[in-house]
Amino acid sequence: MTPTFAELTTMRVGGPTADFARATSTDQVLDVVRRADSAGRPVLVMSGGSNLVVSDQGWDGITVQVASNGIDISGTTVRADAGADWDVLVAETLAQGLAGLEPLSGIPGSVGGTPVQNVGAFGTVTSDVLRSVTVYDRRSGAVSEWPPERCGFGSHRQSAFKHTDRYVVLSVAYELRRSTRSVPLTFAELVRRLGIEPGATADTSDVRRVVLQLRRERGSIYDPDDNDTWGVGSFFINPVLAAVPEQARESPTYPDVNGTKLPAGWLIQHAGFAPGYGRDWGRGSVALSSKHALAVTNKGDATTAEVMAFAAHIRDGVQARFGIRLGPECDLIRCSLDDAPSGRQPSAVPVP
Ligand SMILES: Cc1cc2nc3c(=O)[nH]c(=O)nc-3n(C[C@H](O)[C@H](O)[C@H](O)COP(=O)(O)OP(=O)(O)OC[C@H]3O[C@@H](n4cnc5c(N)ncnc54)[C@H](O)[C@@H]3O)c2cc1C
Repeated sequence: MTPTFAELTTMRVGGPTADFARATSTDQVLDVVRRADSAGRPVLVMSGGSNLVVSDQGWDGITVQVASNGIDISGTTVRADAGADWDVLVAETLAQGLAGLEPLSGIPGSVGGTPVQNVGAFGTVTSDVLRSVTVYDRRSGAVSEWPPERCGFGSHRQSAFKHTDRYVVLSVAYELRRSTRSVPLTFAELVRRLGIEPGATADTSDVRRVVLQLRRERGSIYDPDDNDTWGVGSFFINPVLAAVPEQARESPTYPDVNGTKLPAGWLIQHAGFAPGYGRDWGRGSVALSSKHALAVTNKGDATTAEVMAFAAHIRDGVQARFGIRLGPECDLIRCSLDDAPSGRQPSAVPVP
């Protein structure tokens, strides 16, 4: 029996995959993907399933779950296989006296998922300490090590690995610091809880403790026993705009290389959708997290179609209020917020 995406993802929706391979080493990942490509079979590469929503029809190709989990620490250089659990890596580096990843504690998913959207939290992004990404190019068949400048980071949550199935991340290397002091911290609530000035540092173990506490309070740590966390974290991406519409002038703004970034959570709440909204909407199977208006959550037996309809309802409400159209931060496979069937369709032969 192959698993369903309801079983493979933290949103816990989605139909079955026709074929499934759990690859526990880099060689296995390469072997499975190369064989599928030579057979002309569609391939979906995933790992923790914490940023992925797949249609109720499922996936009629092979799903490769990357589960290679080696971690190698040599001096201040840390290299981890793509399938290694992200938070296990963060905890291990801190235990070894290495600083740099502490503000990124508690983020679900794998090491290989992190360069895909340059994962970040509390004012830090993984590219801050990235040394290289080892990548398999399904088009050329080559494995190569990419320096950070080749990875297309820059604008919020973007990278060369997002919205494409051409590249498979095999491992990631980070350059950390031998220290028990954190990076300088600026995120307001984090520095307040730590009792430090913005821009100051703190003990890395204190940063991890407070970050985990804040994440728990916001429902941002995935808990299989708590349906308030069954989602993809931030469902919508913070919009980056060339010009901020007049209706949104009260919103906080942040600079981005491509314009001005606005917090999607603020827009959602100020469009009238409070945390917990949705219990009286439709069957009540999908709702915003009771702790966090940016998280769309499955209350138990939701379908992908219901998640899409609810997310479209939120998106449309924000557009009506602010004239800003939100888009998903997570990867939608064969599903979309629009009526027309779309979403990413991973291909057998990767296209440019
Ligand atoms: C409760 C919760 C809180 C979250 N908080 C945050 C947060 O604070 N900050 C943040 O940035 N994100 C957050 N996320 C999103 C998610 O945790 C990250 O995006 C994570 O890095 C995804 O990793 P994954 O292994 O689960 O990827 P998956 O969900 O398995 O895959 C996500 C995407 O990456 C691709 N992918 C995965 N592995 C590979 C690989 N080896 N090679 C090529 N492509 C690959 C998949 O094809 C897909 O497009 C949160 C999610 C949840 C559920």
